[in-house]
Amino acid sequence: MPAFILEKMCRGCKHCVNACPVQAITVLAHLPVVDPTKCTECETCIELCMHGAITFKASEENKAMDEHQYDQELRLQLDVVMAKLVDLKARWPAHSVQAFMVCEREDLEEERDRLLHLLKST
Ligand code: SF4
Ligand code: SF4
Repeated sequence: MPAFILEKMCRGCKHCVNACPVQAITVLAHLPVVDPTKCTECETCIELCMHGAITFKASEENKAMDEHQYDQELRLQLDVVMAKLVDLKARWPAHSVQAFMVCEREDLEEERDRLLHLLKST
């Protein structure tokens, strides 16, 4: 059974993300999400979370649901990033591009690539 984040109890500190030895936890929409295909059930994150926001789920049925939810969340997040890229492209000036816009585009492209990579590995 992979670890599971209880969203309502999570405070978004990201300590679990940094502590996971196999990088099974990523942040989507400001909340950590466990990739159930990577989690080795080491319990590090559960012991570390001071808010009791991480647990193990109890059944194979829930495990399948987690994997589905994870995939769905990745796709939703990718939609948001792609929409922001389209919006940025529409606002892109013909001349005198501001540095913050270049940074924004790079950040969005990096996030897009990261999400696509995660989706390929699910
Ligand atoms: S350590 Fe706990 S509170 Fe902090 S981000 Fe992870 S699940 Fe949320
Ligand atoms: S139980 Fe261990 S492997 Fe699984 S998400 Fe938590 S820290 Fe990572």
